[in-house]
Amino acid sequence: MAHYGMLIDLTMCAQCSACTVACQTLYDRPPDQSGVYLLTYETGTFPAVKRTTLPVQCMQCQNPPCVSVCPTGASYRDSATGTVQIDASRCIGCRYCIAACPYGARQYSSTTGVVTKCTFCIGRVADGLEPACVETCIGHARVFGDLDDPGSDVNRAAAERHAVALRSDLGTRPSVYYAS
Ligand code: SF4
Ligand code: SF4
Ligand code: SF4
Repeated sequence: MAHYGMLIDLTMCAQCSACTVACQTLYDRPPDQSGVYLLTYETGTFPAVKRTTLPVQCMQCQNPPCVSVCPTGASYRDSATGTVQIDASRCIGCRYCIAACPYGARQYSSTTGVVTKCTFCIGRVADGLEPACVETCIGHARVFGDLDDPGSDVNRAAAERHAVALRSDLGTRPSVYYAS
């Protein structure tokens, strides 16, 4: 039993999109779809403007609204890994989960008629590998591991870098944390 999570350190992110491309390539997703996307936004008033890029993906919520709205049970939280997964064979493409996800993490494929998202590369993890976005990250901005293990790299890095979850006020209890 584990509770997998990830830290993304924005101070180390090179905004290169390698994570997006790695996910697209590994899962044969079309160019306009990926489990990871880069959200860019600006803050401040000209000329004191700051541009920030935020890599966003499924937050692997512990209280996931996408699961509670799914009418078929296709979306579920896997208790063995603490991740949220989609059983494509049960997905009817209703897209309720897309509407329910506050992080824009899900995408509908008109080719397959089902919804996809980041899976934390759980198949690779079962084989002892890291998620593709972690392995490919040229800035070493990503740390993956078991949040239930107090000594794991992800727990240590999150504590040292004072990492926070996105929109924790929503009560979704994300498993992805950000340092900035
Ligand atoms: S980020 Fe969205 S898709 Fe992922 S578990 Fe949370 S609500 Fe579901
Ligand atoms: S699109 Fe699929 S996974 Fe999403 S709510 Fe509908 S049945 Fe569930
Ligand atoms: S691969 Fe790493 S450095 Fe590049 S955009 Fe993704 S998180 Fe940032």
